[in-house]
Amino acid sequence: MAEASAAPRITVERILNPRSVAVFGASDDRSKWAGRIMYYLALHGYAGNVVPINPRRQEVQGKKCYARIDAAPPVDVAIIAIPAASVPATVRDCADAGVGCCLIISSGFAEVGGEGLAAERSLAELSRRTGMRLIGPNCLGLINVLNGMALTSARVLEVDKLYPGPIGIVSQSGAILLSVFNRAYDVGIGFSQLISIGNQADLEVCDFLEHMIGDPATRVICLHIEGLKDGRRFLELIRRARAVGKPIVALKTGRSASGEAAARSHTASLAGAYAVFGAACRDEGVVLADDPDVMVLTAAMIARFGPWRAGRIGVVSSSGGINGIVADRLGDIDVPLAALAPVTQQALGAFMLPSHLQNPVDLGARRQAAGDAARVAEEVVRIVAADPGVGVVVVPLTTSPNYEATATALAKGVVGCGKPGFIILTPGSVAKGVREIFKQLGCPFCNRIDDGMRMLCAYRNYAPPSSHDEDGPPASPKGAGPAMLDLRVGYLSEPEAKALIARYGIPITRERLAGTREEAVAAADAIGYPVALKAVTARVVHKSDAGLVRLALADRTAVAEAWDEITSRLAALDPAADRLVVAEMAAGELELILGAKHDPQFGPVVMVGAGGVLVELLGDLEMALAPVGCRAAEALLRRLRIWPLLDGYRGRPRLDVAAAAMALVSLSRLAADLGGRLSELDINPLLVRREGSGVVALDARAIIV
Ligand code: ADP
Ligand code: MG
Repeated sequence: MAEASAAPRITVERILNPRSVAVFGASDDRSKWAGRIMYYLALHGYAGNVVPINPRRQEVQGKKCYARIDAAPPVDVAIIAIPAASVPATVRDCADAGVGCCLIISSGFAEVGGEGLAAERSLAELSRRTGMRLIGPNCLGLINVLNGMALTSARVLEVDKLYPGPIGIVSQSGAILLSVFNRAYDVGIGFSQLISIGNQADLEVCDFLEHMIGDPATRVICLHIEGLKDGRRFLELIRRARAVGKPIVALKTGRSASGEAAARSHTASLAGAYAVFGAACRDEGVVLADDPDVMVLTAAMIARFGPWRAGRIGVVSSSGGINGIVADRLGDIDVPLAALAPVTQQALGAFMLPSHLQNPVDLGARRQAAGDAARVAEEVVRIVAADPGVGVVVVPLTTSPNYEATATALAKGVVGCGKPGFIILTPGSVAKGVREIFKQLGCPFCNRIDDGMRMLCAYRNYAPPSSHDEDGPPASPKGAGPAMLDLRVGYLSEPEAKALIARYGIPITRERLAGTREEAVAAADAIGYPVALKAVTARVVHKSDAGLVRLALADRTAVAEAWDEITSRLAALDPAADRLVVAEMAAGELELILGAKHDPQFGPVVMVGAGGVLVELLGDLEMALAPVGCRAAEALLRRLRIWPLLDGYRGRPRLDVAAAAMALVSLSRLAADLGGRLSELDINPLLVRREGSGVVALDARAIIV
């Protein structure tokens, strides 16, 4: 029997604020890893006790050196950057000596598989048994800027000072973390803490996320995630972050990973791991970024300005050329330029030629009489920012005459304008001095148009929680609910799956099963013509592709002929199938697909999209964690590209959006009730009629486990 887990010896808070740090392999030589770690601890002013460990030395970098960890004074955190083969013994020594946490930089563990994986498992087991925490292995360490504790050997620390700032970052990739740190440093963005978590043998992304949610010095959290150890805990934490108003910007890899191989429904093939992660993040207000530098730029905007509340973009530049490019790029990302108000144009008229009072504003069209160019630049930024329609000011800056004076004036304008704003500084080395000026003035800037555009995309997605966000989903209907013990396990064919969704109030077609041609004709008589005739089979996922669906059968002869045709095809495809379904022919305007599934990390999810046979091709889908309320369901519909068709496109009638949203709400209730028992479910299509005329499910299938 496994031994019980020991209580953790040390909190994450203490790991980030250790009273003492041991450095294995300590050396005076800064070309060596441990030599640099010692040096950076001193350089950045870590005030705790630094304990070098090296059997061959008496003293290292002015500190008394110990041969072994058990001879050293008490240690909160030991940093281990030695060859992988020596790591297990060293970590054991640390555990025996009462060390609080081992930070293992060494690589060659789970990431290489085989023996490395086994070695990592025993490290994790040792940690569990003793309560000594582990960070890594295969990480690049951590930096607490606030106390100067730089536990890494990375040369990016070769700087005079670390900028303290409001952003905390947790990264699975140490390399990304450090390059992000370096780039952020170059644009004057500071951090509270930076943590590289590596293989997460023990402490994982959620442990540090939890710490940062409670850390007053961290106002915005950045996460780089490859894989989550515990999706549910992550979900709880992002909900908590939202509840306490701490923004998170996340970058997750794995977007291109394809869905499950043998998917038996659209939902299973489309709701892949990344899509569900993305939906969970969006539902809980986590902003997603697709690039690590953009993640940090976005976090810096949020930390500095809060949300982008309203308004469009105002652009000011001394280059008409770059204004044109930025205007096009804004159009590409659907971020509109503001039309300047008459009062703004009037104010601009004091400085600019009457022909040039539009957004983007080209400072090149300055009135000669307006005076000093730098002063004009600063004024113009303020005037544009003050426009009631402008929400964010963007200043693309190429080289220009009187470069530093103009740049300084523009930066002052941005910093003092009272609205979110930033500069896109496009030149290379010639702008070195200007970059320093911006850093000194605290003016937000980035170095490429593309970074600026991507950052705006992410920034626009940040919305703080509002109290009236949710309108909880309805209760389970009578006779349904989490128990539902009567539910058959396995593949539910169309009539069975429809019966299930009908219990949750989703309208389905009037239909009957028929075992013979005569029964089919009788059923059609009872339902009323025209009818649809379809095979009932678990073998064929897309019935119509196999010629197993006949529509608009107008009379008895048509039904009888269709019966013969479908049954003869079915004999080859699924000899066991012995019944067909006769359904009313439904009429309506637009086909949607609704889906539900149980995600192993995040639990039940629902999906909605453009339905019919082109689902995968169009890829117009939105997803949310289940259950959802009406408001959230309608928001999903509004995000679809086909939303205009639902909303009444170009004189077409508006469709029954409320009924479609309600069907999604009901399906989400079903998914939440069934939990892990619902592997996947598709309603495709859900036919949407005109406003007031409702929706009806024409087809459904499900897998119950
Ligand atoms: P499958 O998806 O397995 O090919 P469906 O039952 O969805 O089979 O039928 C294919 C298409 O036929 C549907 O997408 C829909 O356009 C149409 N259809 C199916 N049943 C009906 C019906 N009862 N009324 C009107 N159209 C229907
Ligand atoms: Mg279908």
